[in-house]
Amino acid sequence: MPRKGTENEGDRGNPVPDCIFCKIVAGTIPSRKFYEDDAVIGFLDINPAAPGHTLVVPKQHFKLIVDGTEEQVQKAFIGVRNVAGRLRSKLGCNAFNILVNQGREAGQAIEHFHVHIIPRVEGDGMRVNPPDRKMKDPEMDQILSKLR
Ligand code: 5GP
Ligand code: ZN
Repeated sequence: MPRKGTENEGDRGNPVPDCIFCKIVAGTIPSRKFYEDDAVIGFLDINPAAPGHTLVVPKQHFKLIVDGTEEQVQKAFIGVRNVAGRLRSKLGCNAFNILVNQGREAGQAIEHFHVHIIPRVEGDGMRVNPPDRKMKDPEMDQILSKLR
């Protein structure tokens, strides 16, 4: 029996028919792929935020980090490490932002888990730091008590 899930979520591991990244993994849509291992591929983002902006995409479809198995998530991040190494050795990138948008509200446009690796250089003008906001102690403690 396949695992229950929404249409967008897909059954873990099975290609989702309308998913662009499943098609790129399968090779039915072309990509500028330069990395592949047993679990992930790495290819250039079609609209790069910076030269070398790469997406690391698991071969098996899942949407959110919490939908993946520990093994799928471990292997995804081993791929991230190896791709970042390639960007450093081949392009000389020494600074990166590694971003994972999770859910529509967080800006996830493609519902197949993927990790952005965005090379950074001094003065590139990009801002990806979250804002510093103040929160009162009782509110912080209430959140903490829910999490423990
Ligand atoms: P998200 O907003 O879901 O985190 O990021 C999706 C990323 O996928 C975007 O940066 C977008 O430019 C990239 N993208 C969307 N469609 C394609 C495609 O067909 N090929 C490639 N290489 N990148 C894509
Ligand atoms: Zn997919």
